[in-house]
Amino acid sequence: MSQRVSIRSTAKMKELMGFYYMMAKAAENDPNQKIAWITSGGPVEILHAGGVIPIYPENVAAMAGTLKISDEICAIAEEQGFSRDLCSYARTDIGSALSGKGPIMGTASPKPDFLVCCNNICGTVTKWYEELQRIFNVPLIFIDAPFQYGIKDRPEAIDYMEAQLRRMIDQVGEITGNPISWDKFMETLDLADRAVKLWREIQDLLQHKPAPMNSFDTFIHLAPIVTLRGTQGCIEYYETLKAEMLERIEQGIGTLEKEEYRLGWDNLAIWYKIKFLSERFSQHNAALVVSTYTRSFCYQAEDRDISNPLRAMSADYLAGYINHGLDFRERELYQMVKDFSLDGLVMHSNRSCRAYSFGQYELARTMEDKYGVPVLLIEADQNDTRMWSDEQVGNRIDAFMERVASKRNKNIA
Ligand code: SF4
Repeated sequence: MSQRVSIRSTAKMKELMGFYYMMAKAAENDPNQKIAWITSGGPVEILHAGGVIPIYPENVAAMAGTLKISDEICAIAEEQGFSRDLCSYARTDIGSALSGKGPIMGTASPKPDFLVCCNNICGTVTKWYEELQRIFNVPLIFIDAPFQYGIKDRPEAIDYMEAQLRRMIDQVGEITGNPISWDKFMETLDLADRAVKLWREIQDLLQHKPAPMNSFDTFIHLAPIVTLRGTQGCIEYYETLKAEMLERIEQGIGTLEKEEYRLGWDNLAIWYKIKFLSERFSQHNAALVVSTYTRSFCYQAEDRDISNPLRAMSADYLAGYINHGLDFRERELYQMVKDFSLDGLVMHSNRSCRAYSFGQYELARTMEDKYGVPVLLIEADQNDTRMWSDEQVGNRIDAFMERVASKRNKNIA
C-alpha cells in the first residue's frame, strides 16, 4: 500500500482550533462575552466584527463524527422523539444540547446568547434552529436566502440578502450593546475575503500532479475557514498551509507514493470513515484531489460588485453550490473534472442531506453519459454510522477502480 507523507501544518491547525474552543468554553460564564451559534453558510463576518464568539454546531457535530461518538449522541435526540430521518448533524447537536455530552473536552458546545440561522444550505436548519431557540430561550436571527434555480443569481435576491445583512449588523449591535462600526465591519470583511482567497488558492494547488494533499486532508483543514473566517489567525494559518503545499510541489511530494488516478468528491465527508476511505483509494493509487464540499467555503458570486463590499458579500452568500439547481451543479462538476484532470467522480449519496443529495443520481448519469466520466455513488451518512458497511463500500470502490483503470487502458490503446 502507498504511504502518505504527513502534513506539518495539521499540528498548527489543531493548536489554533483547540485554543479557539478553549476560549469559547471559558467565555460561557463571562457575562461580557457573547456567544452565538451559527449555521455553516451563515454570515460569520458580522459576528467577528461585533466581537461575538461564533460556534458552528455542524463543525462540532463533525468532530463528534470523527471521534465516533455521534451515534450515541444522536440516540439521545432520538429518545426524545427526533426522527432518524432528520439530518444527523441536527440530531448530534440537539442530543448534545439536551445531554451536555459532546466532543469539546467531552462536553457540549458553550451555550449560546443568541442564534443565527441562514437557510442557504438547506431548509432543515430552519426547524433545527427553532428547536434550539426553544431549548435555550435566546433570540434567533434568521437570514432567508432564496434558492437560485438558474445559473445566474437574480439581482432581486441579492437586494433581499443585502437588506437582511444590513439589518443583522444592527441586530448584533443591539444584542451585544455595542453597535458595530462600519470601519470595523469593512476591516473584518477584508480579512474574510483574504482567507477565502487563500483557501481557494490552496485547493487549486491540488491541480498539480501529484497533488500535494488530497480531499481527505482538505476536509480536516476546512475548520478555520468555516469558523474563523474574518480573523487574522485564519489568514496566518492558511498562509502557512499554502507555503507548505508550495514546498511539497517543489519537492515533488504527493499525497501517495504513486498517484496514478485522480478523483473528485461530491457531498459532505463521511467523518467516521475518513481513514478507511483514504486507505482504500490509496490501495488503488487513487487520490481524491477536489471536492464540491470544501470548495463551498470559497464560493464567490460571478458578478460580485467589489465597489460595494456589503453587496458583494450578499451575492456571495447566495452563490454556494448547494444553493443552486442542477444546471449549475452540472457545470461546476464538469469544470472540476477539467481543471483537476479527473479520472472519475465519487458521489456520497448522503441520507442526512437531501439538499445536497437531491438530483445526484441524475447528475451522475449526466456525467457518465454526456461527459464519459465514471461515477461511483456511495450511500452513507455524514455522521450516523448505522447504515455503513466496510465490506460493501470497499467492494464497490474496488469495482469502480477497475472501471476507471479499464477506461484509462482503453484511452491509451
Ligand atoms: S441537511 Fe445537509 S446542509 Fe442541512 S444541516 Fe444537514 S448536512 Fe448541513
